[in-house]
This record gives sequence, C-alpha cells and structure tokens, in this order.
Amino acid sequence: MTQEQAKVPHPARWGVLYRSSGPLWDSAKERNLKMQRCASCQNWLMPPRPMCPNCQSMESEWVAVSGEGTICSWVTYAEAPHPAFDSPHTVVLVDLAEGPRVISNVVGIDADELEVGLPVRVVYEDADDVLTLFKFERSA
Ligand SMILES: [Zn+2]
Repeated sequence: MTQEQAKVPHPARWGVLYRSSGPLWDSAKERNLKMQRCASCQNWLMPPRPMCPNCQSMESEWVAVSGEGTICSWVTYAEAPHPAFDSPHTVVLVDLAEGPRVISNVVGIDADELEVGLPVRVVYEDADDVLTLFKFERSA
C-alpha cells in the first residue's frame, strides 16, 4: 500500500456509521462473524437493514455463522474502483453455509483459480484500528 492509499479511508468505514450494519462490523472485529436474521420469518437480511423485505417485520436478531461457504460468483476489476484497493481488484459473492450471500474478497486465491462452488472459509483483516474486514480463503 502506498502512502497516498493509506490516507484514503476504506469504503467499508462508511458502513460502520450506519446503525443497521454496526453489529456486522462489530462481529468482524470480534472475529465471530454474525449475520442479521428476521426474528419473524427467519429470512437472512444481507445487507443489514431495519425492516425485513419478506414480511416487513422490524424485529431482527444477530446470529453467529460458521464462516464456511462456497464461491457463488466473482468479478475482477482491471483498475481498482477506489484508491484504497489494489489493482486488479477481485470481488466475490460467497454463499455462507447457513444461507446468507455476502459480498467480499478472497485472500491467497488468484482470480483465475476461482470457480463456482469452491469451498472457502472466513478470515479477518484489520483495515485500521476501527474496521475489521471479513474475507475468504480456500478451505481444506
Ligand atoms: Zn421477515
């Protein structure tokens, strides 16, 4: 990372500011990933939000997940979409074992090694003293 990049706050810092997604980032910082689930119909709410789009309930709970999942899809940007990212920049969709689908990045997996259904597990990366990102590495 260059010094110029280090001055640019990671875009996920914006998410920390929103009350509805705060518990997600708190759980990443605690290295115990939790996802929001509707307390009424059990629908996973990802991204986090105040109201369930399935049943309109305003009641939700934060549930710890295993961090195990599989690659659903990905895209690689030849040029990073934000100065905080390296180029090329790969974004993945991961289907967690419990059901929610999350947007993230991979660690230690080249884009040309990605395939639909590739088993992955969560790893945590401290972006700074406030934000911890959850990313995915190949699982055994
Ligand atoms: Zn619901």
